[in-house]
Amino acid sequence: MPRKQRTFADKVKAETHVIYCPKCGGAQQSILYVQSIKTSSGSVKFRGKNVNVCKCNQAEIYK
Ligand SMILES: [Zn+2]
Repeated sequence: MPRKQRTFADKVKAETHVIYCPKCGGAQQSILYVQSIKTSSGSVKFRGKNVNVCKCNQAEIYK
């Protein structure tokens, strides 16, 4: 009985959970995007959030 061999690429794909953008069809990369937020008291706080980056939004992420 033939066994379907999983290639290394398949394995990596499955483990990294690649998301494809519905708009451009490109693979999105999940990165930690750090935002600087000015609080009402005048100090600056940094907040990190995970965002998926592709051609559509990379221009605004990588300023
Ligand atoms: Zn896109």
